[in-house]
Parts: sequence; C-alpha cells; structure tokens
Amino acid sequence: MDRGFLANKRRVVVKVGTSTLTHVNGRMDLRRIDRLARVLADVANMGKSVVLVSSGAIGVGMGKLGIEKRPASTSERQAIAAVGQCELMQIYSKFFSEYGYAVGQILLTRDVVDSPHMRSNAVNTFETLLGMGIVPVVNENDSVSTEELENNINNGFGDNDTLSVIVAALIGADLLIMLSDIEGFYSRNPQTDPAAELVRHIDKITPQIERAAGGVGSSRGTGGMATKIEAAKIALGRGIDMVLASGEDPSVVYDILRGAEVGTLFTRAQSQ
Ligand code: ADP
Repeated sequence: MDRGFLANKRRVVVKVGTSTLTHVNGRMDLRRIDRLARVLADVANMGKSVVLVSSGAIGVGMGKLGIEKRPASTSERQAIAAVGQCELMQIYSKFFSEYGYAVGQILLTRDVVDSPHMRSNAVNTFETLLGMGIVPVVNENDSVSTEELENNINNGFGDNDTLSVIVAALIGADLLIMLSDIEGFYSRNPQTDPAAELVRHIDKITPQIERAAGGVGSSRGTGGMATKIEAAKIALGRGIDMVLASGEDPSVVYDILRGAEVGTLFTRAQSQ
C-alpha cells in the first residue's frame, strides 16, 4: 500500500515504551533518548506539532535508586515512579533544549480524561504549549492513580498505549506513532511462534487479530500487544492513522513520515 499520504501529517503523537527508553538492567538508554529527542525536535522543525507520550517512570526510578526487583507493593511503585518521572523529565529537558526546544510535562489520570471540565483544561494546555512551540511530554500520573497500578499492569492506560490514543483524539492528532521493542504486529505472537509474519497493513481489528495479540499484561508486566491493538481499534474508530514500529532506532520516525513501508500501518481503507 502506498503510504505517501503520511508525509502530509501535521500533528503527530509519538509513544515510547519502557523497553525503548531503558537498557535491560533498567537504567536509562541515554543514546536512544538523545536520538529520540533530536529526531522529534527536527520533526517539529519541519513545522509539524509533536507530542511525546513517554512511559518509563518506574523503570527509570528503579535504575536511579539501584532497585533491581520491581516492588510488589503499589505504594513503593508509586514512590519509585515519583522519583523516576523527575529523572525522565530532567533528561528530556536536557536533550530537547540542546536541539532548541523546551518541554512541558503533562501528567494525566483517567478521571481527568473522563471529566469534561478537566479535559477541556488539558486540551487548552496542549494547544497553548504547541502554540508556543513547546513539546508536551505526557505520562500517566503513576504516583496517584492507585487503582490502575494495582491492576498488575504498568498503569491504567496499559503502559500508556491507551493513553497515547486518548491524547491523540484529545488534541486532534492525525497520526499516532507507537515505538515498541518489536518491528510491528505479527500474525501470531513471535515469541512463541516462529512462523509468525509481520503484517504491513491493517484496516480493521478482527477477533483473529485480537487473538494473535494475546492477553493483556502478557509481556513483562506491561501492556504487551493487546493494549496496542486496543489502541489501534480506537484510532481506527476515530480516523486517526497509527503506525507501530520498532523504537530501536528513533530515526524510524523520519521513515514513517516519508511514507516508507516500516512497521504496521493501521488505517481505514479510505484514508489512502
Ligand atoms: P512496549 O514496552 O514497547 O510498550 P511491550 O513489551 O509491552 O512493548 O509489547 C510488545 C511485545 O508484545 C512484543 O515484544 C511481543 O513479545 C509481544 N507480542 C505478543 N503478541 C504479538 C504479536 N502478535 N505481534 C507482535 N508482538 C506481540
């Protein structure tokens, strides 16, 4: 499928997962975060609006505090997230400012999105930040969203997969780029099935696709593929195009924005 139309996207939400931001030992992958900031600053220089949805507060907090095992208790994880979020923003602020951009932190919880009043405040803040040429960096407010953290998934929005599509809808984004630890969506779980094949284009989420995505929380306590497919379903429903690709090299964002065939594109047939 010709993806040339992706070059015309004006407002892009980019979501990065913990696995993209951290080394296996949980410490921050500074080279990758630096590259990500450089690419996104450059995309902003092209005249596009960029919003970054970043996970990683707990992972980064664990690295900072030298904690190796993810604590079982919610309050400990929330405390670690409080430390990790500062660390994460500090590093984003440092790298983005090297490339000429200020960042603004937006922490969201479900009730913010569900309340019309708070939601409209959030939208106004996004619009004002973007209007000022600032890159909003969004995360779930892990330190206060108790209920979600207890649900054995990283957070209530499923490692921010759901949050990223909610944000995309909230600000009228026309493209959601999800950077993960895998090239895209496979016909079966590639961890367990060597015959799994990368799917290049999906225009509808079928029960078969949902089955192939496995259960929620299937992968290292994060949302896994199931929450990404759930997000894709919302994106398709809203007419927001979504590309799922590997975040190993953040310059993949350039490839996506020039319409190269990387990762999996979720788009309705008529968006072509
Ligand atoms: P992130 O940290 O980027 O949010 P996750 O680790 O939560 O990413 O989810 C991606 C993982 O989902 C993949 O590494 C893979 O192990 C798993 N997965 C399960 N089913 C599939 C599938 N059908 N296609 C691709 N990945 C799948």
